[in-house]
Amino acid sequence: QKAEWAKLVNEKTTTADGHHAELAANIGTPQDVKGVLENGAEGVGLYRTEFLYMGRDQLPTEEEQFKAYREVLEKMEGKPVVIRTLDIGGDKELPYLDLPKEMNPFLGFRAIRLCLEQQDIFRTQLRALLRASAYGNLKIMFPMIATLVEFRSAKQVLLEEKEKLVNENVSVSDNIEIGIMVEIPSTAVLSDRFAKEVDFFSIGTNDLIQYTMAADRMNERVSYLYQPYNPAILRLIQMVIKAAHKEGKWVGMCGEMAGDPIAIPILLGLGLDEFSMSATSVLPARSQLSKLSKTEAEKHVETILNMDIAEDVVKFVNENF
Ligand code: PEP
Ligand code: MG
Repeated sequence: QKAEWAKLVNEKTTTADGHHAELAANIGTPQDVKGVLENGAEGVGLYRTEFLYMGRDQLPTEEEQFKAYREVLEKMEGKPVVIRTLDIGGDKELPYLDLPKEMNPFLGFRAIRLCLEQQDIFRTQLRALLRASAYGNLKIMFPMIATLVEFRSAKQVLLEEKEKLVNENVSVSDNIEIGIMVEIPSTAVLSDRFAKEVDFFSIGTNDLIQYTMAADRMNERVSYLYQPYNPAILRLIQMVIKAAHKEGKWVGMCGEMAGDPIAIPILLGLGLDEFSMSATSVLPARSQLSKLSKTEAEKHVETILNMDIAEDVVKFVNENF
């Protein structure tokens, strides 16, 4: 198997019936790019920038961030790189921000909510990203978007910083796509509206599942409810993909589900454009996809989305793919 995977390192991802899907990798630091390239990923689908801010006692400067982002973009040599703006809060704390303790951190003041309120932090990161954009194929993604107002505000701040840099004669790419994570059910439900304004979606199933099922992703006692294959989750994913494609936008997925062998045939059938996963999952996924037919998968998806429970979905996938 290892030998079979190795042969796929420099190949595109093509299904048995000739359809191309993009396989990207998730990273947390510039050092992770090595593994991305060694495993033949076609891009970075999620760069979690939180690590730049963690394990230290003050915020990273614009210059520090600029260097990290530029390094990733340069090493990826023009391949797409989706960098997510700060997604702190929930399980990821920053002690030096001195934020009050909350009853429900996963439902609290985090990610884009914090960035829109403490705009100095957000603007510093955006400037670093914009400056780095001249060194590769950057796409910027906002996390935890719950409303269109949040997206519009975040985009507005980004455009303001861009204009400032342009006025300072700093070179900034003119082709930066601006997208959002779909990880809150309200955004999945309104994806037809979002699709008119964003350049792309990336479905964050790690959070989308916990918020849809009301089951904390860290809590063992309710882990039985954390169901990626629940038809409710699959229908939300379908809604998002259909809404995006209607507006000619692309949809990725950067939650764990994107690299899951049981989910992959379903996601192919639903028309997912980009699968972003841990680097070590890329070659196994490419191998799996090369044996699947997209037309077949589309047919089976109709059956799957009409099922009642996750268990039936798993059984069906195991028997039919
Ligand atoms: C997600 O929620 O699916 C995701 C990719 O983001 P994180 O795991 O960093 O919350
Ligand atoms: Mg998330």
